[in-house]
Amino acid sequence: MVSQWSRLLFALAFAGATMILERHTPGGDAPPPVPGASFTDKARQYFTAEELARGRAYARGRYLLYGARTALTLGLFGLLALSPLSATIRNASVSVAGGRVWLTIGVFGLLLALLYHLATFPVSLYGGFLREHAFGLSRQTFGAWAWDYTKGALINAVILLPLLMLLYSCIRWDPVRWYLPVWVVVIVVMSLLAELSPILLDPLFHTFRPVQDHGLVQRLRALTDRAGVAVGPILEIDASSKTTKTNAYFTGFGRSRRIVLYDTLITTSTPEEVELIVAHELGHWRRHHIWKGMAISAISSLAALWLIARLLNAAAESGRFGFAHPADPVSLPLLLLLFLLFTILTTPIQMAISRAFEREADLESLRLSENPKAFIASEVTLARSNLSDINPPRVIVWLLYTHPPILERIAMAEAFQIRQGQ
Ligand SMILES: [Zn+2]
Repeated sequence: MVSQWSRLLFALAFAGATMILERHTPGGDAPPPVPGASFTDKARQYFTAEELARGRAYARGRYLLYGARTALTLGLFGLLALSPLSATIRNASVSVAGGRVWLTIGVFGLLLALLYHLATFPVSLYGGFLREHAFGLSRQTFGAWAWDYTKGALINAVILLPLLMLLYSCIRWDPVRWYLPVWVVVIVVMSLLAELSPILLDPLFHTFRPVQDHGLVQRLRALTDRAGVAVGPILEIDASSKTTKTNAYFTGFGRSRRIVLYDTLITTSTPEEVELIVAHELGHWRRHHIWKGMAISAISSLAALWLIARLLNAAAESGRFGFAHPADPVSLPLLLLLFLLFTILTTPIQMAISRAFEREADLESLRLSENPKAFIASEVTLARSNLSDINPPRVIVWLLYTHPPILERIAMAEAFQIRQGQ
């Protein structure tokens, strides 16, 4: 949910800003040259042929699944927007809601959510459960997975349906300028979710407890002190009950700001490697990536809402989409389709900004730890346990990668090591 929204909101920025970020980030888009090392030599230095093949097989299927989910969603919203089906759902919603205008859109949204889950469930089941088991990554029973899936859908409904009702009352209030109040609501909700989801939503899916290894906690506190970043609790999450994958993240801001380590990370990595991963998270803080990300989201969501408001009015005037006024619930599939298209078209920009932030955090972690060896070791451990694609196609990186590919990150550490030695 949170990531959906942030993906949606993070959507647009300026192509120029991206290019500036890419250019001013150490390393740039291309890996620093390593004399005499071709890709294969480089990859073989850290990974076995079998690890490379497995990572490739796992990741490439995931690219296809991502494409399938996107195509299904576009197809569903496109079909509804262009056919009389949307009017049929509107009529059904009107009778269920007993003619109450504010409730009609809520019922419509719920029916649409059901259709979306029906259309995409096979992909979710295969990609999220069956395939994870086939690759030996999941430890969940089917019941546990299905319960997580249901909880996710319910939380989405609880948060999104009231927002949808608010959105349509704004459109009814002013069919041209509704995007301004909606934009303010979006920013407020985004901030609230960032603050509250670590406390309210995350515990619905995982159990958290303070990191038990005291030596590790001391080490990490020393690191956060050195970085000059005030951090709330350092927690571990019972990821091992669900997956063998490893990860760590920072979340929340204000008082709910915390570092969360997968328990699988603690058991598979050395303390030096865990330290490097936390140093990377601190790098995000030191470079104010949360605030920058929110500022970009605010600008991009304003642009998206403004554009969609205009397009929706044009669609109403054209009379081709089955609604004469943008506040008619029949417009909802088209509105969602436009949002989705906007997100897809701006994803490369969004991903480029994300990769630039990640490179900055990597460099900060190297400066903070002065331990490029542990950096490389932690990257290799992460890539092995998460079955990373060691050599992803350039176009896929451009379209989907929030982080630079693993060998680029390693190359950055090697370059740092060389500079350190001088
Ligand atoms: Zn990061």
